[in-house]
Amino acid sequence: MVNYNMRLAAALRLRYGCHVALVQTGGDSYLLARDGRAGRAHDNQAPVVRLLQSEPRTCKSKMIFTSHVPNHAEKGMARMCGVRSIGYLQGPTERWHDMRRSGYSDTPQTGTTLGYRDWFNRPQLERNRIVGWLRNQNVRYQWAESGRGRQGAGTTGPDARRLITDLGSLASHGIDQTARDTVGMLLAFAVVEAVHGRYRNNPQRGRGYHGQNIGGVLVAGDGRLLAWGVNTNLGNTTLHGEVNIVQCFQSKTGGAQLPSNGTLYTTLEPCEMCAGMLHVTTPGNFRVVCGQDDPNLGWTALRNGSKGNMMSTTRGPILPGVTWADLLAARLGASGTFATRFLEQGETATLLGDAHVMLHHMAKLYLSGDALARWRQTLVAFLQSVRGGMGG
Ligand SMILES: [Zn+2]
Repeated sequence: MVNYNMRLAAALRLRYGCHVALVQTGGDSYLLARDGRAGRAHDNQAPVVRLLQSEPRTCKSKMIFTSHVPNHAEKGMARMCGVRSIGYLQGPTERWHDMRRSGYSDTPQTGTTLGYRDWFNRPQLERNRIVGWLRNQNVRYQWAESGRGRQGAGTTGPDARRLITDLGSLASHGIDQTARDTVGMLLAFAVVEAVHGRYRNNPQRGRGYHGQNIGGVLVAGDGRLLAWGVNTNLGNTTLHGEVNIVQCFQSKTGGAQLPSNGTLYTTLEPCEMCAGMLHVTTPGNFRVVCGQDDPNLGWTALRNGSKGNMMSTTRGPILPGVTWADLLAARLGASGTFATRFLEQGETATLLGDAHVMLHHMAKLYLSGDALARWRQTLVAFLQSVRGGMGG
C-alpha cells in the first residue's frame, strides 16, 4: 500500500496539474490537499501544510505522501502533528523523511520498481494513460481546507505601523538597532499580555485565543510594525504565534515574501515547525530575535539550516544591553531559567506586566510633551485592537 500511495500522489499531480499531499484515512478513502503556493516558493501554503492544518488529528501517527520534495515548513509541521513519516519523490528516487529522526538527510527507498519513475518526462500520450489509470482506481478523496490566517494574528493600521519609527523621529536622539530591538521585543511581550493576560487561566481570555503565552511582532526593514500574532494552539496544534503571523501577513499581501531586512520579534525561540515556516517564507536577510532560547529544541531550520543571518541575534534585549534572559536569571537564579517557558507563572507573569511598563519608559527616552502623549495613545489603541479582534 505504501508504494501504491506514492504512485497515487504522482498520478494526482498529473490529474490536477499541481503538487499534492495525501493521507489515507480509511481503506479506499483519502484526504487530499493541493498546492496553494501558485508557483511562489516563499508562500506558506504548501500541500502538507494545508493538509495538516485542515485535519491535524487525522494525520497523527500516519504516513503522508507527496508528489514533491517537502520543504522545511511541511516537515516541521509534520513533526509537530506527530506524523510518522513523509514519502515523496525526488526526481526518480523515492525518499522517506522519518519524523523520529532529527535533521534532514532523508532516506532513499531502495529496491522499488514501481514503473512511475519516469511519469513526468513522458509524452502526453503516456500522461493520458496515467490519468486513465487513476480513473480506474477505486479511491475516494476529500479535499482539505486551508487554515490560512484564521485567527490569533492581525496586520496593523497606519498609526500603529509607526510605533517604532516614531521613536526615531527625533534626529537628535536617533534610534540605533539595539534600541529598536528593545522596543520590538517589548511590543512582542505587550501583545502577549494584551491577548492572553499574565496567566494562562485568565477568565477574560477569549475562546479562540486559547494557547500558550507566546507571541510576536513582525517589523519591516525600515522599522514599520507590520503584524502581530499569538499562540492559539489549543484548538489546532499547528497554530503557533509565528505560524499565525506568517499566514496572516501572507494572506493580506497576496502571498508576499516576508520583508527583506525585516525582523520577527518573538517571546520564545521558534520550534521546528515555526522555524521551518520562517525559513521558507523569508529572504536570507531577515532576523529572528527571541526573548528566550528553548533548550528543549533539537534541530531547527533556523538553528541549523543555512539562510543568511536569520538567527544573528537571539535573546533580544529587554532594555538596551540587558536581555530578557539576564533579567530572568537576576530574578529567579539559574534554577528558574526555563521554568519560565510560557511566561505565565509567578515571577514571570510579573515580568510580562513589567514589559508593558518598560515600553512606556522607553518612549519617554525619545519623546516628550504632545508627541509622547500621542505615542502612548497609539500604543493603547494598538493593544486594544490586538485584544479586541482576530485581525485588523
Ligand atoms: Zn512553534
